[in-house]
Amino acid sequence: MSPTEQPDVDLDRPLAPDAEPRPHSASGEGTAERDLAELAPPARSARRWTPKRVVVTPAALDEPHGQRIVARVEALGIEVERLTANRLTGVRGETDRETYARAKSTLAVVVSPPSKRRLQPISPSADWRVDLAEGCPAHCQYCYLAGSLSGPPVTRVYADLDDILANLTSYAGTGEVTSRSAARRHEGTTFEASCYSDPLALDHLTGSWQRAVEHFGAWDAPVQLRWTTKFADVDRFVALDHRGRTRVRFSVNCLPVTRRWEGGTSTLEQRLDAVRRLALADYPVGLTIAPIMPLEDWRDHYGELLELVGRAVDDVADLDLTAELITHRFTAGSKEVLTGWYPRTTLEMDEARRSVKRGKFGTTKHVYPREVMAELRGWFTTALAERVPACRVLYWT
Ligand code: SF4
Repeated sequence: MSPTEQPDVDLDRPLAPDAEPRPHSASGEGTAERDLAELAPPARSARRWTPKRVVVTPAALDEPHGQRIVARVEALGIEVERLTANRLTGVRGETDRETYARAKSTLAVVVSPPSKRRLQPISPSADWRVDLAEGCPAHCQYCYLAGSLSGPPVTRVYADLDDILANLTSYAGTGEVTSRSAARRHEGTTFEASCYSDPLALDHLTGSWQRAVEHFGAWDAPVQLRWTTKFADVDRFVALDHRGRTRVRFSVNCLPVTRRWEGGTSTLEQRLDAVRRLALADYPVGLTIAPIMPLEDWRDHYGELLELVGRAVDDVADLDLTAELITHRFTAGSKEVLTGWYPRTTLEMDEARRSVKRGKFGTTKHVYPREVMAELRGWFTTALAERVPACRVLYWT
């Protein structure tokens, strides 16, 4: 049997089984610098992912949302393979790079595993994690998913969306109050829908996050849907009846980070324009500034980022803008996966320059030393207050 014929991906198996949920961060790539004043509406649409291969499992095809996804994908002129079982062949290549490239260009429409009905807490970004998909077509060289994935990173989107959303009802009014979650307590029970994926990278193919926004809009209770994205494809969201119950956060970084290490995402300018458009459409919005890195001249570069953010939102009336600040970290597992995927990466992942932080699941992360963290945190606290005074910082990590 040749490598391409082997049944190498079990689509019933989650990409990130039993892994510690990690906050997903995101961002962009090479782009010309422009004055953001020119970027006021109308927005340019973000580049949209066109998978090379789309497959659907028999169970997914039985679900109404599975049928909707198939119809949507086929309407875009993309062929959908109907699988006869929940296994996928033809992903494994001759080399890891080839397998990676094939997996990253494949979309599988599947039914979520039953374990997904039992939600996991995802502090500090939200009370609960709800997955509408796993995997992402972008190529960020520091991707937080890397340490959690098992097997080729085929993106899976869930066809049983109606059940996933209905299951959230019993979680309203629950969630642990911690010092880190206190800043968003007034927003009710929060559900994070981007833990292992990037919603706006996929929604044009699935419509899942659109439906989730409408679900929360119609759910008259103290609840909030949240997600983070490095994409700017917000056209379909602007006019939705969201009722302020979805906070869309855009993962942003300074231009050197965005340009060097965030392949296949929307540009920083596009993302900031998308923040503006959703804020003007009365969405609560947010910035996930991540992963923060003390590069050479980092104060200048992050200062420029905050200037661009300030200019994008400074005339938005009733702006509700938050920031989540996440420094770069890596694990032995994520480093191994990432250096396999991106062997020539220039991203610094040097254990000798880091401190060790132990997680509650027994994981070991390499973070910046205490004094570097303190300097970064102090600078961001002051600079954000000066340059984007309306912004409310939710947490630093
Ligand atoms: S956009 Fe995709 S590849 Fe980039 S960090 Fe997020 S999940 Fe990873």
